[in-house]
Amino acid sequence: AHAAHIAAAGTDARTADGTRVEIFANLAIPEETDRAVAAGAEGCGLLRTEFLFLDRADPPSEDEQAAVYADIARRLDGRPLILRTLDIGGDKPVPYLPMPAEENPALGARGIRLSLARPALLKTQFRAMLKGVPAGQCRIMLPMIVDAAEFARARTIYDEAVAETGAQRAPLGVMIETPAAAMLADTLAAQADFLSLGTNDLTQYALAADRGNAATAAMIDGLHPAVLRLIAAAVAGARRHGRWIGSCGGMASEPLAAAILIGLGLDELSATPAAIPALKAAIRRLDIDHCRALAAQALDLGTAAEVRALAAQAIREAA
Ligand code: PEP
Ligand code: MG
Repeated sequence: AHAAHIAAAGTDARTADGTRVEIFANLAIPEETDRAVAAGAEGCGLLRTEFLFLDRADPPSEDEQAAVYADIARRLDGRPLILRTLDIGGDKPVPYLPMPAEENPALGARGIRLSLARPALLKTQFRAMLKGVPAGQCRIMLPMIVDAAEFARARTIYDEAVAETGAQRAPLGVMIETPAAAMLADTLAAQADFLSLGTNDLTQYALAADRGNAATAAMIDGLHPAVLRLIAAAVAGARRHGRWIGSCGGMASEPLAAAILIGLGLDELSATPAAIPALKAAIRRLDIDHCRALAAQALDLGTAAEVRALAAQAIREAA
């Protein structure tokens, strides 16, 4: 099986009945890129850019950022690169971004909220992305968006960065990782070029369960039907405007969850590099009609445990 995985690494993932699902990788440091490509990643679905900003006294300059983004783009050898703008908040100390202590950092000034409060920082990051990553390869997405007003404010800064650099305008997308964004996905898709689910945060906020708290860890399951209904709303919103929609949270790395995500209509799954060979192999055994039926049934269930039991049975029967 290992040899088959390696032989298949460079090829598309299609279900047994021919539906293409793009399999991208989540990356948090440049050095992971080579391993992701070797594992069969068809692109990077989430570059977490926080590594550039943490553990230092000053923010990275535009040139420093651009060089790192260019390095990752080169390692991807022309494959799409989705760069996420800075997603930090009051829970991470950043000496040059003094942030007031917050009682609930996950509900505080993090992600796009922090960036909109520091527009010069955001514009520098946009400029570095546009300069560093070749046109055609570059896509940029915004974390923690709640509604179209936030997106519009970020896009104004983005448009300035495009004009100033003279670069070709790369697609600007929105992460769907708040329940508000999922419910309003149609209004976001009307404005944004693409959507990408952040299922880690979407799950935490939908279930009101801290993703980093051991006491709530057992509750955190993206296969909870409450989360699946939010995902279904996000896909419907994307479709209404003909937008591409992917998923870059942790659940896309799990073959069981992938069957449901594919059934819900996602165009792309972005996974942790190590999970990609098994994910592609699992997708090749699925039928899209079975996935759609499974997703439809899952949406009618009441608990994550019921969804897991249903999905496990469906996959056993298909094997
Ligand atoms: C997510 O929330 O699912 C996500 C992909 O972003 P992060 O895990 O970096 O918050
Ligand atoms: Mg997130």
